[in-house]
Amino acid sequence: MSLFTTRQIRYHERCLYGGLPVEYISTDLTRLALTFFSITALSILSSLPSPDSEDHKHLVDSIYALQHPSGGFRGSSTVALPVKDGKPNEYDTPTFPMSCFALSALVALHDDLSRVNREGLLRAIKEGQREDGGWTEYFTTPIVDECFDGGVTDLRFTRCAVACWAILNGEKDEEEWLDVDRVVEYLRRCRTFDGVFAEAGGREGHAGLTYCGFATAELVGRFDEVVGGEFGWGEAVRWLVGRQTEMPEEEEEESDEEEEGEEGGEADQKTEEKSEESTKKNEILPLEVGRKPRPAGFAGRPGKVADTCYSFWVGASLQMLKASHLCNLELDTKFLLEGTQSVIGGFTKLPGEGFPDLLHSFLGLAALGLPKSRIPEIKTVDGALCIAAEDVEWMKDGGVVWWRK
Ligand SMILES: [Zn+2]
Repeated sequence: MSLFTTRQIRYHERCLYGGLPVEYISTDLTRLALTFFSITALSILSSLPSPDSEDHKHLVDSIYALQHPSGGFRGSSTVALPVKDGKPNEYDTPTFPMSCFALSALVALHDDLSRVNREGLLRAIKEGQREDGGWTEYFTTPIVDECFDGGVTDLRFTRCAVACWAILNGEKDEEEWLDVDRVVEYLRRCRTFDGVFAEAGGREGHAGLTYCGFATAELVGRFDEVVGGEFGWGEAVRWLVGRQTEMPEEEEEESDEEEEGEEGGEADQKTEEKSEESTKKNEILPLEVGRKPRPAGFAGRPGKVADTCYSFWVGASLQMLKASHLCNLELDTKFLLEGTQSVIGGFTKLPGEGFPDLLHSFLGLAALGLPKSRIPEIKTVDGALCIAAEDVEWMKDGGVVWWRK
């Protein structure tokens, strides 16, 4: 069981500097999210270009090129429409998720954020907080109000807006950029009877939204209050730990022995030896050789199958709850490395799938850094901000200008 380190690095470098497969055309408007996935993955793998290199400059500049004149970021140059009569085009609208991905990727690149229009983005966060305490995807503009009737608040967008505020150290200003009490009220309303989070009160809990809920509480500094509320720590931990879809190891091994004769066993051993040898050399293996996925990762809801991304959503929630030790991390690591790690680098969503995708490739790697680095090649990940923990430390130690005293 090992990480194909070189292939993982090459996969993300290919996605970042080369072209993406045709399937990604439909994600053009959110291309910055894909950039964030690969930059952060390379940071977690200690493989970003050095700060004085051309590649590094190109990456930083390409993110700043997506900054809106009034603050915030759009996801793609496709929506960076020309300025009209000295004013930004009304259809050129930044979003909270893209602003969050831009700032997070810049911190991973150790950019000091001095070129970020801090006040513009913080003002958008202030204006974007809706009456219920949450945020919608788009910044509040007349055209967004007209087209989407103001939009719908959501825990995902709320987590992104709050992460921008946290990275820009919005708390240190005398002027308040967000109403923390209303954020906490919003979180309370989205909490379910079983202690986790749903899209709205009374709905079914979901691991992805649970991550967003806990990360938001952590980033506004009210985690203990939110977790210790009506539905406390125990219920949330019980629900999250229960999402691990473990299959007992002994049972599977026994049935293997029953089915295989002596010859079969020998052949299997040889295949395994060959597979181990190739793994050491980091050679490409045929998809099925020597791989027996054992579902033991995490699912997003009760009754669902394990999926790579939930190793992160559940893993990061448990990191914040300081309860990671209550689930079987060894089996989760096996699920990722043996079940969904792709032979061409990256991770697939489910075991046995052919090609990896960027979302699962990033989250599969990030999960291996929770609650702290599980394998030497991977850095510990800060669950709440979803970047390497040492990058968060660098930011708070004054790497980012807004954190300097
Ligand atoms: Zn997934």
